[in-house]
Amino acid sequence: MGRKCIVEGCRAWAMRDSEYCFRHDPRPEFEEKRRRASAKGGRKSRKYPVVREQLPDIFFELKNLKDLAEFMEMVINGAMKNTMELQKARTLGQLCQAMKSILEASDIEERLEKLEEVVLGVKH
Ligand SMILES: [Zn+2]
Repeated sequence: MGRKCIVEGCRAWAMRDSEYCFRHDPRPEFEEKRRRASAKGGRKSRKYPVVREQLPDIFFELKNLKDLAEFMEMVINGAMKNTMELQKARTLGQLCQAMKSILEASDIEERLEKLEEVVLGVKH
């Protein structure tokens, strides 16, 4: 998993080249980006501008439900704060549903194998 923003209480992912998330990076260029991101108006076709900078460029390992929950949390927050496109958030939500079923199934399988080993002496 990637690094979290170092600001206390902030649970966002840190950006690739920073210890901070997009919202907390103190560098002046980010202040400017934030200002533009939160500025109202502009093009009417895009009511909620998406700020792409916060999407972490990291590989997510989704090995268990806890990993999946953290990942989903990031997706939900991204969708809420318009740092992620809703279409992408929807797709990721669907993939997470599939992943959840896979993880649950493999967990049951693992437990069953352990049970068989103990009860029936079957070696896997
Ligand atoms: Zn932060």
